[in-house]
Amino acid sequence: MTYRSGRHFLQIPGPSNVPDRILRAMDQPTMDHRGPEFAELGKTVLYGMKRIFKTENPVIIYPGSGTGAWEAALVNTLSAGDRVLMCETGQFATLWHGMANKLGLETELIEGDWRHGADADAIGRRLSEDAGHEIKAVCVVHHETSTGVTSDIAAVRRAIDSTGHPALLLVDTISGLGSVDFRTDEWGVDVAITCSQKGLMMPPGLGFNAVSAKALEASKTAGLPRSYWGWDEMLQHNAKGYFPYSPATNMLYGLKEAIVMLLEEGLDNVFARHARFSEATRRAVRAWGLEVVSLVPSEHSNVLTAVLMPEGESADRLREVILEHFDMSLGTGLNKLQDRVFRIGHLGDFNDLTLLGTLAGVEMGLACAGVPHNKGGVQAAIDYLAESAVAVRTEE
Ligand code: PLP
Repeated sequence: MTYRSGRHFLQIPGPSNVPDRILRAMDQPTMDHRGPEFAELGKTVLYGMKRIFKTENPVIIYPGSGTGAWEAALVNTLSAGDRVLMCETGQFATLWHGMANKLGLETELIEGDWRHGADADAIGRRLSEDAGHEIKAVCVVHHETSTGVTSDIAAVRRAIDSTGHPALLLVDTISGLGSVDFRTDEWGVDVAITCSQKGLMMPPGLGFNAVSAKALEASKTAGLPRSYWGWDEMLQHNAKGYFPYSPATNMLYGLKEAIVMLLEEGLDNVFARHARFSEATRRAVRAWGLEVVSLVPSEHSNVLTAVLMPEGESADRLREVILEHFDMSLGTGLNKLQDRVFRIGHLGDFNDLTLLGTLAGVEMGLACAGVPHNKGGVQAAIDYLAESAVAVRTEE
């Protein structure tokens, strides 16, 4: 690859851009993970992640990706043949469903059109039919990265509670946590799952489970085979700040810094910042005359915007043109949205001017690729960002 001047715009919806503060924090000698210094680090990040997950319960950190953390949630709580209720919100829900089948679970899928979040009423209806409590877990993706649609987890919790059904609630908040509000304890989430490369602003490589007392209790009798993912040994070691095997030490240095940064800004400010960027992005998309995938305004993602191409136009070609001419990576359309959709990530270490650079890259790309659109998307975003920046300052 020849040198390209300026910074590459990594605007896929995760991995997100890793800020210099985190890169610098990781750039240290790897320490003895059985020594006293490590225990300090271990305790700090384990406690810090509870604040990010908004939980009083244990958080487990694996060297692994989000897919590993999905597996950990399933194998620690369930037994072969257990029935689980899942919701087809998009590609990631589909992949998690596929994994559950491979692990020998009996899955039931509430089908979806990939343009709406999980249907809490449908979950409630299915659970109320299940008088024998055959369903052991409800699995929902909080923030569907393939479509830019959010599911209302509090509503899912209410639907479960209204039936008095004892099923566990397992939630993937892989692209939500650290960017949009997520309340593990308040929403009664039994296992909340995330990973490092989205709102936590880290490279890929860490997977997380936040585990309720009910999930821990279930793990004592859950029969699916597990070793690496087992919570029991992990928790025994975590009690003293250690891990049962080699932790991803340098990633943990970075995680410590990421937690400090999120808390320094304040989680509510982080969420408000993401909400503002997503509104500006949707205004740009509307001005271009294009359509977002998410159909219900209350479900629009604050993390990414998935944009439908005009009929007959290739999203992949547009992404290629933008990469070639403007050195920016955008998210691809996944599975049945392949080539139909491109995704603009606006998450993590991101500010007004990064967003405007991103939207300018898209608008110039639409022109270069000859995609029919109206001009003025960037201007619409500028107008909104300028007016809402004044409002934010006045509130301060
Ligand atoms: N779930 C969601 C919602 C995701 O966005 C992703 C990855 O983008 C995954 C699961 C899988 O995570 P990983 O690629 O880290 O295994």
